Amino acid sequence: MQVLRTVAEVRALVARARNAGRIVGLVPTMGALHEGHQSLIRRAAAECDLVVVSVFVNPTQFGPQEDFDRYPRNVERDAELAAEAGADAVFAPGVGEMYPEGYQTYVTVERVTAGLCGAHRPGHFRGVATVVLKLFNICRPHRAYFGEKDFQQLVVIRRLVSDLNVDLEVVGCETVREPDGLALSSRNQYLTDEERRVAPLIYRALRRAAEGLRSGQLFHFSPEQIVRGALGREPRMKVEYVEFVDPVALEPKDPCQLPVVIAVAVHLGQTRLIDHVIIEGREDA
Ligand code: AMP
Repeated sequence: MQVLRTVAEVRALVARARNAGRIVGLVPTMGALHEGHQSLIRRAAAECDLVVVSVFVNPTQFGPQEDFDRYPRNVERDAELAAEAGADAVFAPGVGEMYPEGYQTYVTVERVTAGLCGAHRPGHFRGVATVVLKLFNICRPHRAYFGEKDFQQLVVIRRLVSDLNVDLEVVGCETVREPDGLALSSRNQYLTDEERRVAPLIYRALRRAAEGLRSGQLFHFSPEQIVRGALGREPRMKVEYVEFVDPVALEPKDPCQLPVVIAVAVHLGQTRLIDHVIIEGREDA
């Protein structure tokens, strides 16, 4: 496993692979790798000849009050986990390598970043779009792998690639969950034992609302009441948003008009968690 620190090293590795006609896959991450990241890497390894995993805690996507400083970092461990899942190289640049002195160019994807996390984390998706486009230009992958876990992020990247004619395929991968339903996330490490115990409530509430919508049997309660009601019973949880949006435009939508995405963000103690479900159609339709 090679851990590359500079843009020049990655460019050289990828150029050699491309010249030999090999397919290059990129899995962008912020490190603290877990089974969710590994599922993306395994998929990339199955579909590509050279798999590069980037590990970069990107400062431009964190707000001033967010967890940039305390975000877990352990590149050696990440390199082991990446290798185990089939990666060929880890690209772990320092902040100065990605944003050298004089840096001043940013990418803004507009409408799909207006709501959901975009509304609550100003500048977040500008940072994400910028770093991802930089990683695309540095690593020049044929395919890039992203988790559906960060649903809005996946929509933003698809939009960016389409709008700016970036020559690669974006591959969306299913969310990996704990047996109790909690979506794997590097931020789950922040949870206390007690918070970890109640965290699966989030996905349980989403599933209940989704089942109601799918079967058309919500009757007296709106889907929003169901989700907010379930989460509101847990005093440690502060709901940031519960929204019903179109899966492509991400604009607010009547939840009874399928397909629809139910997306939530909650603060559980000091930790912000997001999750969503997609409801494609009614069972009786
Ligand atoms: P992060 O390191 O949190 O920025 O995530 C890097 C990539 O892994 C993103 O494309 C995420 O959507 C994806 N990812 C994170 N958690 C999961 C999960 N539980 N299942 C699938 N993909 C995930």
